[in-house]
Formats: sequence, structure tokens, C-alpha cells
Amino acid sequence: MYEHDVVVVGAGGAGLRAAIAAQEQGADVALVTKLHPVRSHTGAAEGGINAALREGDSWEDHAYDTMKGSDYLGDAPAVETLCQDSPEEVIQLEHWGMAFSRDDDGRVSQRPFGGLSFPRTTYAGAETGHHLLHTLYEQVVKRGIEVYDEWYVSDLAVTAEDDPESRSCHGVVAYDIKSGELAGFVAREGVVLATGGLGQVYDHTTNAVANTGDGVAMAYRAGVPIEDMEMIQFHPTTLPSTGVLISEGVRGEGGILYNGADERFLFEHGYANNAGELASRDVVSRAELTEVNEGRGIEDEYVHLDMRHLGEERITDRLENILHLAEDFEGVDGLSEPMPVKPGQHYAMGGVETNEHGETVVSGLYAVGECACASVHGSNRLGGNALPELIVFGARAGCHAAGGEFDPARITVGETGDSEVGSVESPVALGEAGLSSGDVAADGGAAAAPGGAAVGPDETVQRTVEREQARVDRLLTKEDGVNHAEVRADVQETMTRNVNVFREEEGLKTALADIREARERYQDVYVSDPSRTFNTDLIHTIETRNVLDLAEAITLGALARDEFRGAHWRKEHQERKDDEWLRHTMLTWTDGEPRLWYKPVVLEGGSRAYEPSSRSY
Ligand SMILES: Cc1cc2nc3c(=O)[nH]c(=O)nc-3n(C[C@H](O)[C@H](O)[C@H](O)COP(=O)(O)OP(=O)(O)OC[C@H]3O[C@@H](n4cnc5c(N)ncnc54)[C@H](O)[C@@H]3O)c2cc1C
Repeated sequence: MYEHDVVVVGAGGAGLRAAIAAQEQGADVALVTKLHPVRSHTGAAEGGINAALREGDSWEDHAYDTMKGSDYLGDAPAVETLCQDSPEEVIQLEHWGMAFSRDDDGRVSQRPFGGLSFPRTTYAGAETGHHLLHTLYEQVVKRGIEVYDEWYVSDLAVTAEDDPESRSCHGVVAYDIKSGELAGFVAREGVVLATGGLGQVYDHTTNAVANTGDGVAMAYRAGVPIEDMEMIQFHPTTLPSTGVLISEGVRGEGGILYNGADERFLFEHGYANNAGELASRDVVSRAELTEVNEGRGIEDEYVHLDMRHLGEERITDRLENILHLAEDFEGVDGLSEPMPVKPGQHYAMGGVETNEHGETVVSGLYAVGECACASVHGSNRLGGNALPELIVFGARAGCHAAGGEFDPARITVGETGDSEVGSVESPVALGEAGLSSGDVAADGGAAAAPGGAAVGPDETVQRTVEREQARVDRLLTKEDGVNHAEVRADVQETMTRNVNVFREEEGLKTALADIREARERYQDVYVSDPSRTFNTDLIHTIETRNVLDLAEAITLGALARDEFRGAHWRKEHQERKDDEWLRHTMLTWTDGEPRLWYKPVVLEGGSRAYEPSSRSY
């Protein structure tokens, strides 16, 4: 058994920033991560970090753009915190040595990005995330923070009270990928989940294979509500063959989208008469697919992104990485040819419900970064708003988990994060959707099965280790059955086909039925590789259960929300319904089945109220 004050699960931008903040409070911190920190997916971020740094810009304008971008599903206090704290956190990164691109006068460069009313996206070439990750990791090394890398956290050690709000998290169970050892980590003060995105729920995604939504799924099964899961962002410029991202920075620098008839369709077909290519991502993705569906695409699949007119000098100075990606993955020379692009899954706006300290309803359990939902993105995230979320809320969560006070003047506990569990009944009949309370996968149920007697921290962790050991042993000794890869592929395929940019009722119901069928097959899953060391077959098998749970959560939320808001387009419901739907979709794993409920959006910020208005670009 290992023991630390604060255990941070995940070492991407959010986890590293949280660990630094906790260490600054004097805590003994451990980072437990399935990948080496600098292999975390934050390193793939290209375009930049939004921060109102310059004269003529203000955090209030940033907050307004973010609320509008969210299609009024963001919570205003959290959005204002993001925008107020982002400049300070970006300057902190600069002071820690992050190699931002600079203008001739020496100031940190800023570029336009979609949905922004001011060019406020700071960047480091087209490798912003790489530089951010390395800068934060240097601080972790400098401070001597203990890193357990290639340790896979498979469950949370949570007490077993019936009411999730009475439960406590005392640590985690992790599997050492190098040795096959399963060990408990006791967290004396708090566990911070920073496990990143869930792109592997889809088969065409910009996300890495490691992005399986582990933290969201573990928290969900431990009784923590998950929020706005149906809100998935599809990025308009991904390479068709692989899903590799072509940064919005290309359009920020002046790149142009053309359809198969060489029309600048965003203007010529009236999708975004003012902002054109720099409309927000949901708008551009729908426009591209409409062009393709109406026969104006290229090879019935994609459109062109052209940056040739920017000239070689500007491209190599600011977008060199894009040239390599287009050449390596699509065989296209971006200096002399347009690049093929189409929408692909990119980001999860929803996640583990938290307040602005990163706290969840389970005491001692925090979440931050893409796995969390402090509710700053609502139904559509603006490009460049995820990286500031990592550092702003990472710092807050790490500090709070270590018992510190973070800038109390701005903290708004009770306004955004204090959830009322079970406020509104689900409009979705789960039975009708093909789900029942028996649908619990073979390798374990909720982390905290209700009804158990109260036990102390060490015993809670020890019991969870024993349960996880039994699960791993069962998977490793089962002699044959279903391979996880088949199950995962089927889920990814149905999600990409039915729960994508354009959604309709029949397709959503088909996806739910497919997920249920895949879940049944998963009951018979086995691991063909019996070895104890570097057993990626075992890890992927465990991850596949998370993929299943999250696919179901996304689809349930999408089926229930019968309106069109932000990234959530419904064929049968073509209007944003503010009277009914200014509320967050909440999902809680209760008595072995998902339960949908809702809580209101907070549109009242500290500086103003954000009245929903029509959203055009
Ligand atoms: C290609 C791409 C480009 C992007 N560009 C931008 C951009 O320019 N600007 C912007 O604002 N946003 C951008 N985004 C979004 C942004 O980069 C991500 O949302 C963000 O980096 C996620 O950071 P994170 O720290 O939450 O997770 P990650 O960086 O993904 O880190 C997750 C960590 O959790 C660990 N982990 C996961 N599961 C487990 C487990 N079970 N046990 C142990 N450890 C675990 C992993 O090892 C990893 O260390 C981009 C996203 C992508 C995919």
C-alpha cells in the first residue's frame, strides 16, 4: 500500500497543474498515470490558449464569447472564473519558461480563433500543448513530486453509504503495467481525477487510443453524477483517413474552406455570413457535412482547407507542424495543395460534475480538465478554451484538495457546484431504450455498492484492492470468450454512425440497442494474453468497459434532449427550446442502472446576466 496526502490520477495539463498547486500547499503529492506525463494527450494540442491579455480586450468579452459559444448551457460563474483567471495562469506559464510565439515587439503573440470577438489565443507555433506539458512537467520534476508512471488506475476506493453525497473517497487502486502488481494508494486528503477525454467512444476521433474516459466512468460507477454527456464536440478540420487534427490555427491565420465546386461555402451558402471560417466549431462542422450530403463535397466525404495563399514564410513560422501532419498522414503538401478535411470527434464538453474547486459530491474526490464538467463549455466549447480550463481549475482543485484556500474572493461555492440529486424525473423510459437494471458488466459494479458498513480509509482501499485483484484474476484465467476489440469496434462504429454531428431519434435508439448488445457480449470478455507484464490486452479490456458505459451515457442524454442546442442537433427538433431546456443533463448510476435528472443552468454571473439570444456568426 502506498500513502500520500493527495493522489492525482493523470499527468496531462490538468493533473500536472493540480499536482503543482497541491505541492505548493505543502502536501505530499503522488501523480499516478497510465502514460508517462509527456505522452499525455495535452501534448497533441496545437492551436492555443485563450486569455484576455491585451489592451482592447477584457475578461468580460471573453466570458461573453464563451457563454454565446456554449449556446447558453455554460454556467456563468464558472465561465467568469475561467476568463478572469486565465491571464494570470498564462503569465505564470510564461514565467515558468513556456516558449510562446512572440511578436516583433517581444509580446506574446495572439491569433484569432473561432467564435472569439478578439484575437486572444496565445500559442507556441502549432505545438502549444507540447510546450505547455513540458513546462509543467519541468516544475513537477523540480519540486520532486513523486510520479508513478505506467500505473493504470482501475478503481476508486469509495465508502459504501447508500447516499452518494455521504460517501468518501480514500484513495485508488492501480495496476503497475510494468510488473503486473496491483496496489492500493491511500490519499489522506484527496484524490484528483485528471484522466482526460473519451474520444475512443468513436472511431473517427482526434483523440489518442489512451483517451477512454476512465475517470468519468469510474466516478460514475462510484455514484458521482456526470453532466451534459450528450454534448460532444466534432472538430471541422480532421484528416479523413486518420482523424488527425488540423488545428483551427490554420483558419485563425487565414486558411479558407472550399467545397467540391471551389466555392467558399460558409459565405456563399449563407452558413456564417460574418465570421465565415471562424464561426464556432459546431456551425462549421454542420456546414461541411451539409455540403457533402447535398453533393457538393469531394469524393462524397470531405471538403478542402487551403492555406497556400498564406505563403511559405508564415506557414513555416506559425504552422509548420501542420505541414508535417498533412504530409505524413495524408500525403499532401500543404504549401502547394489544399488539405482534405472532415468533421471528427474531438472533445467532451460534459464530464464529472464539479464545482469551481473541482469538488464532486463524494467527499475527498475531485475532478479537473477534460474529464470534469465545471460547466464552462456548455453545449459547444470554443477553440482555445480547454487549455485555460486545465490550468485555471487544475490550480484550484490541487490547492483545495491539499486543504488550501484559493483566491477566496472569486470562489462561488453553492452557485454552480452544489447539486441537488434527483430533482427531475427522466423523460426517457430506460426499459423502452433497451436497458434494465441487470445490465451491469461482468467485471464489477459500482465502486461503492450501497449498503456496506462504514469502514476507515485503509480498509476501504484494501477492500477495493481485493475486489480489483479478483476481477483481474478472473479476466486473466478465463480461457476463452469474446475479445474486447470486437466489442469496442462495434460500439465505436454505431456511435460514429448514429450519435454524430447530425442526430435523429431512430439512429439514437439503434445506437442504444447496439450498445446494449455489445454490453451483453462484454459479459463474456476474456484476455488472450496471460502475461503479467505490459499486458495491454488486459488494460484495453478494462478500458472497454468504460467506453461502453460512456457510450450509453452520451446516447441516453442525446435521446432525452429533444431540442437543437450547440453541438447537439436533432433532426426532429430544429429549435433551441429555452423554456424547457436551460438545464443540464445529469446522469447518476443508481441501483445498477443509469438515472437521468436535470438541474438548471446558471446564467447570472458576478458581472452581469447572460440573456440567451439568437446565436449567429
Ligand atoms: C489533437 C487535439 C488538439 C487540441 N488542441 C487544443 C488547443 O489548441 N487549445 C485548447 O484549448 N484545447 C485543445 N485541445 C483540447 C485539449 O488539448 C484537451 O482537452 C486537454 O489537453 C486535456 O487535458 P487533460 O489534462 O484533461 O487530459 P490529458 O492530457 O489527456 O491527460 C490525461 C492523463 O490521464 C492519464 N490517465 C487516463 N486514464 C488513466 C487511468 N485509468 N489510470 C491512470 N492514468 C490515467 C493519462 O496517462 C494522462 O496522463 C485539443 C485536443 C486534441 C485532441
